[in-house]
Amino acid sequence: MRYIGPIYRPPSEADSLLIQATVGCPHNRCTFCMVYKKGPKYRVRAVNEIKEDILAARDAYGQSIRTLFFPAGNTIAMKTENLCEICRFAGQVFPGLDRITVYGSSQYLHKKSPQGLKRLAEAGLFRIHVGLESGDDVILKKIKKGTDSREQIEAGKWVMKAGMELSLYVIMGIGGKERTTFHAKETARVLNAIDPQFIRIRTFVPKIDTALLDEIQRGSFRMLGPHEILRETEMLIRDLKVSSYLASDHYTNYINLEGRLPEEKARLLKEIRTALERDEKTYRPFFIGTQ
Ligand code: SF4
Repeated sequence: MRYIGPIYRPPSEADSLLIQATVGCPHNRCTFCMVYKKGPKYRVRAVNEIKEDILAARDAYGQSIRTLFFPAGNTIAMKTENLCEICRFAGQVFPGLDRITVYGSSQYLHKKSPQGLKRLAEAGLFRIHVGLESGDDVILKKIKKGTDSREQIEAGKWVMKAGMELSLYVIMGIGGKERTTFHAKETARVLNAIDPQFIRIRTFVPKIDTALLDEIQRGSFRMLGPHEILRETEMLIRDLKVSSYLASDHYTNYINLEGRLPEEKARLLKEIRTALERDEKTYRPFFIGTQ
């Protein structure tokens, strides 16, 4: 298997086979993201190269692979027919495959149309990991996410209607002090409209070489402290009317919240209230991320 540039995968794909299908990110403009800023430019690998890597993985690990993730940043942006072809091929090479997943931002999912997404589901694409980040249009514009809440909602509904699972990632604190209430309320609105299978919580950590770190250093973006992050999370969860699994499976978070909604909502809110009783100084310190 050959890998080019940074290779990231969601924590839930820790045990998955990683076969690189694309290099970099076609958007690469989000102000908080450093992943591909200094890496190679976006390109799609040739289908025959990807197939060679799938065969090399079979030779190395046998046919018993159960889950497969195709990095990199926005593999959904590759041509639908090519993504369908590598999904079908992987299914033939690994007959026990339970799950094929990719990253896909809402604007690229939206470009696929409901028909394109249906074709991908039929070819074996099983779950899409989407960086929703926020449902607030003001924040989405400020962080240059390249999409808006209308597109996020439509794309999310199409993915699920096509028969695929949707895992949506929210970044607490991404609107700073100024937008904290809007961030919580508007993100809940978008999540309620989509009702995805998974909601995954992350906490904003500024990263080197990013425009958002520059804003923090200039004083034009004011970050939330641990208690403010917890209150924002509380506001979000309180407003959720979804039937999703919520997880905060990430090192950036101040507390680990995990549970099924709506059944475990009261417990999750209680855990946040308990965490708010802890002195802020006992939470992890501020740091600047380097990866
Ligand atoms: S957050 Fe995702 S879409 Fe935005 S630049 Fe980073 S990899 Fe690309």
